[in-house]
Amino acid sequence: MADLTRSQPARRRRGLLIVLSSPSGAGKSTISRMLLDSDPHVTMSVSATTRPMRPGEVEGRDYHFVEPGEFQRMIADGEFAEWAPVFDHHYGSPQAPIKAALKDGRDVLFDIDWQGTQQLHAAMGEDLVRVFILPPSMGELERRLHERGTDSDAVIAGRMQRAAAEISHWAEYDYVLVNEDMDSCLAEVRSILAAERLKRWRQAHLVSFVRDLVAGSPQQI
Ligand code: GDP
Ligand code: ADP
Repeated sequence: MADLTRSQPARRRRGLLIVLSSPSGAGKSTISRMLLDSDPHVTMSVSATTRPMRPGEVEGRDYHFVEPGEFQRMIADGEFAEWAPVFDHHYGSPQAPIKAALKDGRDVLFDIDWQGTQQLHAAMGEDLVRVFILPPSMGELERRLHERGTDSDAVIAGRMQRAAAEISHWAEYDYVLVNEDMDSCLAEVRSILAAERLKRWRQAHLVSFVRDLVAGSPQQI
């Protein structure tokens, strides 16, 4: 007999889009990587950016690093699902991989800011799940930016200056987490995904199952 308490294989339901936003340094890249490593049904949306590559970053894994001219061409050709200026650079989510993943029933994870989240929400509606990650304190946020060791003091100061403005958008999100402990925060993101995947309207394949169930026909999902 079918076991409906197990999570359904991704191909059986509609894929979803999940956004993680936070002020810089709160831990969304770390949580994203941990989620990708532990859940084969999740695909990362790899953004294009005009910002320089940081030590340790890999082209095509962390970002597609492009020249400003190429970024403008991509905008003009309608290649982005959303794009926005953040800090002194441009960032955008390429459209084609998102469509391909959703068609395959895979979920797509975005590490994007509030501007991009608003655009995706307008375009994708209920397909989008929005998660905001808060740091435990502003002091800890600054400590994490320094500990990461990827940005100069001036860049960190700029990111700290923008943190309050980013946090001011927290009420536009469906879920809010405080990233005090990494493993707990990852567990919370995984719980959100598990619940969202079970939303009735994401499980259209259950319509015929339920019809057969009440008709007393052999049950098969
Ligand atoms: P970090 O947040 O300190 O790791 O710095 P990054 O330079 O990697 O990212 C800066 C900001 O740009 C973060 O808030 C990201 O979430 C955001 N961002 C990254 N990619 C995109 C994108 O494709 N679209 C939008 N709108 N924002 C993005
Ligand atoms: P973001 O992508 O939001 O800018 P990162 O994922 O790059 O943030 O995290 C910033 C730094 O904080 C990294 O050095 C990361 O290892 C560290 N970090 C992330 N989450 C935690 C946590 N819960 N406790 C301590 N350090 C953390």
